[in-house]
Amino acid sequence: MTETKYILKGLVAKWLAVFIAVAALLAVSRPFQALCGEGAYGTTVTVGIFPLDPLNYIDSNGKAQGFVPDLMRRIAKETGVDFRFVGCDWVKCIEKLKNGGIDMMVDVAYTPERASFMSYGAEPILNVWGQVYLPMASRVENLEDLNGSTVALMSLDYNGQNFRDVADHLGIKYSVYEVASHHEVFRAVSEGAAQAGIAPHFFGDAHAKEYGLREDGPHFSPFPVYFAMSKKGPTLLLHTLDDYLSRWKRDERSPYHDLMYAWLGESLPVKRELPPWVGTSALLVGCAMLLLLVAVSLLKKNLARKSAQLSASETKYRQIVEGVNSVILLWDKEGRINYMNRYGLDLFGYTPDEILGRHVVGTIVPETESTGRDLKEMIEDIIDNPERYLLNENENMKKDGSRVLIQWTNRSIFNEQGEFTEILSVGADITRQRGLEEQLRQAQKMEAIGTLAGGIAHDFNNILTAIMGFCQLALLASPTDSTLRGYLNQIETASSRARDLVSQILTFGRKTSIQPVPLHLDSLVKESMKMMRSTIPTTITIEQEIEGDVLVMADPIQMHQVIVNLCTNAYQAMKATGGTLKVTLTRERGLDEKKTPGGWAVLKVADTGPGMDEVTQRKIFEPYFTTKKDQGGTGLGLAVVHGIVASHNGEIEVESAPGDGTAFIVRLPLAQNVEEGEEKRPSKASLATGAGERILLVDDEEQIRGLGKALLETAGFTVETLGDGQSALEAFKADPHRYDVVISDMTMPRLDGAGLAASVKLIRPDIPVIICSGFSDSMDEEIAKEKGIDAFVLKPYTTEKLLRTISSVMGGGKDVP
Ligand code: ADP
Ligand code: MG
Repeated sequence: MTETKYILKGLVAKWLAVFIAVAALLAVSRPFQALCGEGAYGTTVTVGIFPLDPLNYIDSNGKAQGFVPDLMRRIAKETGVDFRFVGCDWVKCIEKLKNGGIDMMVDVAYTPERASFMSYGAEPILNVWGQVYLPMASRVENLEDLNGSTVALMSLDYNGQNFRDVADHLGIKYSVYEVASHHEVFRAVSEGAAQAGIAPHFFGDAHAKEYGLREDGPHFSPFPVYFAMSKKGPTLLLHTLDDYLSRWKRDERSPYHDLMYAWLGESLPVKRELPPWVGTSALLVGCAMLLLLVAVSLLKKNLARKSAQLSASETKYRQIVEGVNSVILLWDKEGRINYMNRYGLDLFGYTPDEILGRHVVGTIVPETESTGRDLKEMIEDIIDNPERYLLNENENMKKDGSRVLIQWTNRSIFNEQGEFTEILSVGADITRQRGLEEQLRQAQKMEAIGTLAGGIAHDFNNILTAIMGFCQLALLASPTDSTLRGYLNQIETASSRARDLVSQILTFGRKTSIQPVPLHLDSLVKESMKMMRSTIPTTITIEQEIEGDVLVMADPIQMHQVIVNLCTNAYQAMKATGGTLKVTLTRERGLDEKKTPGGWAVLKVADTGPGMDEVTQRKIFEPYFTTKKDQGGTGLGLAVVHGIVASHNGEIEVESAPGDGTAFIVRLPLAQNVEEGEEKRPSKASLATGAGERILLVDDEEQIRGLGKALLETAGFTVETLGDGQSALEAFKADPHRYDVVISDMTMPRLDGAGLAASVKLIRPDIPVIICSGFSDSMDEEIAKEKGIDAFVLKPYTTEKLLRTISSVMGGGKDVP
């Protein structure tokens, strides 16, 4: 300590020497003498001291105390200036300065107004901050919280003015409670006359406690205070004071710092070690702070509004993204999933934890599509060439392994450096849509084939009728046990197969109306299987498990077709290897009691053949789909089965896997409340034989006319033939009672079968008319009846069928022996 003082004295002595030299020079110059009045430092300077302890105040003994008077005493010691301190409150001091009562004031903040009657030193004594002082219970945290408060201020106080400026900038509304001193400010706050008081922080640090006020109120507007002299006084003294201030401030061991520490202690606004430029920059900093405060407050308001808007719009966008009925997916260059919206999570069956961060392949993208397309490769290609996949469609996979078809739109996402980082994919589930499209295509195909088949079938049936009819005639004419008879039998078998095929085409085109009758499916299956056994080689074992009394409403011919088609496929599948064909028929209770109150008849045709993969399975019901082209496969078998089952309100399903055999399961609704007697058994109605009855046979095809004539005449009728409706009608008109029956084709030039029938019935209502027709949209049994036609025979007919019909329209007849 002594050492420090010694050094200090040494320094002071050195600077003093310099100062005295300068002062001596100045003392001889005239202007200086003029300014200082009676000579430099011999003069007395009166200093007004207003109460601002601990900076400056007059104590109870009338002596000036505080940091500034002590500092001035130290300067006086070195310069010989005689400072006389006079106590006055701020307002009085100003008055005195103006009227010459005092020369000088201390701790004066700069205002242009004051500068009109005072000269300021260049070097601030120190910086003062304004502070808000508050009652202990106050919850005020920042200036804005003072909205609506009464604030106590000292009159003409620079801090008070600063507070008003800041508060006005911030748009704070407050009322002012004006008093004469800082003590009164504090008293007003502690007694509740004001909710807050403004004072320099030096004063507050020293006195807040004794008034019971909070010391942590908001600060504002730091400002420097100076020595100031009346313009009429010895203003040159200010330079001397500036000189001391600036030197001592820079020197940590100077009286300035000692005194400051002694008087202000912990409330030092700046620590002793702060560099000297801090003082001068404080003004700038202060202004900047003020601006900043205003700016921050405005920003804060703006920010609050913006962030409210932002959060509202964030909520809105989140709702859109989460609520949209599309998958929204973000995945990166490594193929990892970074985001998936709620719809996607629900569709694929994952929780966010299960899917985020995982690779797309193996989770939502299967390695290969069921069409065989390599999706792993596709994903790699998307990452390499995203621009090629702006729109793509592929199969995706749910967590449970099931597949969905999704149409994706993809967009590359780039980071700020323009590097491609992520892909945004938006996907729509088009599984159902594609299914419906497929169904529609299928229906259109069927429609087209049906129309086509119908047309061809008509011609085929005419040809077949002729072949089969003449074949039967030939059979009748040929001797029993002759080789010729054997050949004719072969022709008949082949023709009936051709007829079945035509009928299949028609069924499949849904152009024949089904004739559901109560049918014992068990008997039908057994009979059909007998027939199958005779065609299937013995390398194939046939097993049957047929439950009794399985009654359904069905067309027997079509049911037979179902069984034959399924068994034929099974046989063909095992042809090379042999195996077991197992046919089971059971009854099953329906799950949906309303749809099938009686339950189901379940027909299962299973084989131990090679089975089918999924791709094949999906196509087997398509018409013309076949894997047996080289073996004459037509691809119609299953399409027909499907058509028949559907028209009987039944269902068909396939169970198969490569190497694991195949089973087709057909379900048909069981018939209910059907009396046994109603069941139609093939009628054994008697066949007609003629006794010279005259038949008018009309057909535009010569072959058919010839056949019919031959057939009927063999059976004992007299037959007249004509080639069109018009000439037939004329013949009939000429002699209506010449004929006993009219048999006519439906489609003919000039006048068709229906027209002919109507005309002859007008002439002779009792004349029996039979219409024969191949496939025709405009005629079937029902329409025939409506038109008063007695019977309708579908071509190709057999002799038996025709004779039986003639017999029935003629009201019985004799049995064929
Ligand atoms: P076709 O028998 O003329 O090929 P189908 O419509 O009857 O036409 O059958 C279509 C395809 O379904 C067959 O070509 C075959 O690939 C497949 N298929 C049908 N039944 C079986 C079966 N039991 N085992 C294996 N594949 C079958
Ligand atoms: Mg087949």
